[in-house]
Amino acid sequence: MLRQPNYIYGPNTATVPATINFGEYMLQQLSKFKDNTALINAATEERLTYSEILQQSMNFAISLTRMGVRKGDTIGLISENRFEFWGVVIGAACAGAVVSPISVGYVKGELLHVTNISKPKYIVCSPSLYKTHAKTIATMKFVKKVILFGGEKQNGTLSYNDMVLESNGCIKNVKYEEFRCVEVAGQTDTMFVMYSSGTTGLPKGVMITHLNILTLICSRSVADPSTALISLSPWFHAMGFAGCLNGLSNGVCFIFLAKFEIDLYLRTIEKYKVAQITVVPPILVAICKDQTKKYDLSSVRFVISGAAPLRKDIIAAAHVKFPNLVMVMQGYGATELTLGVLGFFPDSLKLDKIGSVGVIVPNTVLKVADIETGKALGPYQRGELCVKGEMLMKGYLGREKGDELDDEGFYKTGDIAYYDDDGYFFIVDRQKELIKYKGYQVPPAELEGVLLHHEGIRDAAVIGVEDKAAGELPLAFVVRQPGSNVTEKEVKDFVAERLSNPKHLRGGVRFVEEIPKTPSGKIMRAKLKKMLNSKTKSK
Ligand code: AMP
Repeated sequence: MLRQPNYIYGPNTATVPATINFGEYMLQQLSKFKDNTALINAATEERLTYSEILQQSMNFAISLTRMGVRKGDTIGLISENRFEFWGVVIGAACAGAVVSPISVGYVKGELLHVTNISKPKYIVCSPSLYKTHAKTIATMKFVKKVILFGGEKQNGTLSYNDMVLESNGCIKNVKYEEFRCVEVAGQTDTMFVMYSSGTTGLPKGVMITHLNILTLICSRSVADPSTALISLSPWFHAMGFAGCLNGLSNGVCFIFLAKFEIDLYLRTIEKYKVAQITVVPPILVAICKDQTKKYDLSSVRFVISGAAPLRKDIIAAAHVKFPNLVMVMQGYGATELTLGVLGFFPDSLKLDKIGSVGVIVPNTVLKVADIETGKALGPYQRGELCVKGEMLMKGYLGREKGDELDDEGFYKTGDIAYYDDDGYFFIVDRQKELIKYKGYQVPPAELEGVLLHHEGIRDAAVIGVEDKAAGELPLAFVVRQPGSNVTEKEVKDFVAERLSNPKHLRGGVRFVEEIPKTPSGKIMRAKLKKMLNSKTKSK
């Protein structure tokens, strides 16, 4: 077979072990780095070694199996970044279970939506988030047991510490040499269920196989293991999740923050002389805008940005903030693509490619497809970025393969891109309906669904408006019911009571007579964007 001239082929250099078992691979890697520090909590300066994660993972796997967890059972994980997180992920994998990390910001309706997709039999939760969600979790008929981090136990829950610590007498520390993971069919078995709305509609369950995640972590290291990294992105999201797993499988030491606090963040860079930081664009904006100048940031040589578009003026500002910065390197990916399919790597580091999201990763094929004809385009021509390869998800849980794929099985990202003569890609627009607020997904359909439940609202449509600090802000067009006097504040409050923080209507509300739609009933979002600049005013 001949190669297609306008397809971009990544090198076939990801060497996934023949067993294709994520848990097994992670244990093997953890065992190599022994007493090296794997994680440092920036706030408390406590540390966790590779050996400790290894031991926790194996002990947790055995406890789960004793509890009756079987291959394919799903474990929901609701936790801010904290030490126990990876013991759960890797331990559950070793027991053959599927792990589903869930957003820490979700409110009741959102939590019910995603758990109704993945139906976890077990939920592992941090104590603070259990306080928020205990009543909602209690209504989930499919949940058999809740496991709380730390030593806490509340009304019938189990304690993670009891399940992993030898001192609690429940388990004998198992030896790595004597431990065996549950066998899996790694090419097809789902390892993770993450959530993403994709190009349209409500959040869906993205099935990531063992092969998907192993391709990512076996193909390259995110960084030089001899330097410490800061892990700030929430671990439940693809960027933090897969990025951290990649680092942990390569012996990297991560300094993590449970949540972003600028002072602690900058202090941590100074204290540990951090050379590389990974951020979403709004965090970089916040760092660059910080006026305190209290900390020495001269150690930072690379900034990696992803999950949303990054403006050039912010790249310039970053060079002022970090005096020894070599480059702001962007990466591009999506939950459906197991994190990243484009990026900058040691052998592709070209300083003149500012604004680019880099080059293709191994074991992946890309094309830029003409919007009208679907034909693969050549250099400098703009079209929809389409992706195929070993990091493409298995599919959406509980749904037939749909129009997220084209006839050749490429995933249609909904992002508009072009590549140059050297194979460096540039993302220039997003044609899908998804809004990104501070890197978080804001699916318009979800907000529209909520708005339509308001008795004073006849119809509604939500779009993103550009914002320098946050990227985009959700804005609603609303058609009032006849006789309704619903106000902007009431609409905003209605949404804020029902959806998590990133989905609040910070872009405002515009009252209109009608929502423009195609004959088939699809909202014409491009027309709405144009209407924004017209005389329509909020009342
Ligand atoms: P998520 O699944 O939450 O990671 O969202 C994936 C989407 O984020 C992509 O389809 C893009 O629209 C957007 N995205 C990710 N990385 C970038 C980037 N470097 N530049 C522009 N948009 C990006």
